[in-house]
Amino acid sequence: MEIHSINPVNGKIIQRYNAHTDKQVDKKIMQTHTAWLNWRNSPHNERSRLLLNMSKTLLVKKDELARLMALEMGKPLAQGVAEVEKCATVCDYYAANAAKHLKDQLIETEASKSFISFQPLGVMFAIMPWNFPLWQVFRFLAPALAAGNCGVLKHASNVPGCALAIEDIVKAAGFPQHVFQTLLVGSNKVDRIIENKFIQAVTITGSTAAGSKVAQKAGSLIKKTVLELGGSDAYIILEDSDLEHAAEICVNSRLINSGQSCIAAKRFIVVKSVEKEFTRLFLEKMQAKTMGDPLGNGVDIGPQARIDLRDDLHKQVKLAVKQGAKCILGGEITKGNNAYYPATILTKVKEDNVAFEEELFGPVAAIITAKNENDAIRLANKSIFGLGAAIFTSDKKHGELLAATRIEAGSCFVNALVKSDPRLPFGGIKQSGYGRELGIFGIHEFVNIKTVYVA
Ligand code: NDP
Repeated sequence: MEIHSINPVNGKIIQRYNAHTDKQVDKKIMQTHTAWLNWRNSPHNERSRLLLNMSKTLLVKKDELARLMALEMGKPLAQGVAEVEKCATVCDYYAANAAKHLKDQLIETEASKSFISFQPLGVMFAIMPWNFPLWQVFRFLAPALAAGNCGVLKHASNVPGCALAIEDIVKAAGFPQHVFQTLLVGSNKVDRIIENKFIQAVTITGSTAAGSKVAQKAGSLIKKTVLELGGSDAYIILEDSDLEHAAEICVNSRLINSGQSCIAAKRFIVVKSVEKEFTRLFLEKMQAKTMGDPLGNGVDIGPQARIDLRDDLHKQVKLAVKQGAKCILGGEITKGNNAYYPATILTKVKEDNVAFEEELFGPVAAIITAKNENDAIRLANKSIFGLGAAIFTSDKKHGELLAATRIEAGSCFVNALVKSDPRLPFGGIKQSGYGRELGIFGIHEFVNIKTVYVA
């Protein structure tokens, strides 16, 4: 079988790769398991030294890596450079904090000594998506290696070049051979890999459909999973918010990665009294964004990652309009063999509209009217997803209370754009998945939290 990358700017094949055969996959997993038998005993200072090397290696290669992402999935260059820099920060974070997060915890009992010890599990299997081809992988990889685990990666089939580049970065940083390897395989091989006896746990970032299949398979074999799935994040604009600031953040969030981010704002729930002014400002700021070749300068929106994904998005937009939404910007497919989709705004989106109920994974904003604050919260929570959310208000204390107690999501920001940060746990509830990545909770997901009791 062949895996190839396609440039979403022109539909042309960039490079062809031979997929790994079952035999090659089995060998690689065995090699990574063998590497783990030593790696699990490595001291923390050695792991930290190598993570810092990896951070440096990423920074040295940031322009090259940004170009690779631009070619394989259309990310504008400046955003690609920022993504690589963020990967370096997660390596730095776990280099500095893993030993502290994994330190034995003494617990007073009637024993002469009782404590918790955090032990590595073995080889983790990561199934990752194309939208942040580097960040999604490093977000799993840095804490995995820091905890003494090893990993194999099945990356999305449209970013094989990125997948292999990551393997090279790990090698160049000086990590022992085989602690991390890329498996070039299609998703039809995932079940077989989960069945491999050396795979101890599975982490997937992707669609809810893919997450559900992976979790079912891993569950049937009692292998732990972390699922980072889709989202339809609501940004609530209350009557007392600074509308100029809110509109700016909302546009930036909706257009993260050309609209293809699980934590991009997707539903803008605006209290009726400020809806007209918010919509005017939002439209003005969306119109000011530039769509173009991701290798060009000053580009805000590149093409979508694949033509089929762009077509699916357009179908959702057409259906939303048929169901009563009004398209006040964009909504037209660009001619030619490319995956471009323009910044699009849908207003008058009701609760039974596809743009309310489903995730729109592209630069399409759905503006929804709420009668008042309570209605806005009800609408925000009326979703199968629960990844992120944001509230805009000039009353910070009140915003904090709503964020902490009323919003059903894995994270809720006040007057700010929802983003992941190596220091803070990241993940969702409901169909957005379970488990957490990053911070202390991220490194504790894939360790044996072992109780030791000495009478
Ligand atoms: P998928 O969820 O299909 O792909 C993500 C990863 O899962 C890829 O590595 C993919 O492999 C793999 N995969 C797909 N199906 C299965 C399966 N049945 N069993 C095991 N692994 C599987 O995303 P798509 O690329 O098709 O995008 C579709 C939609 O998913 C988007 O429009 C968006 O809504 C959502 N999505 C969400 C992301 C997020 O960050 N939460 C990221 C990407 C997509 P392969 O590429 O070989 O199919």
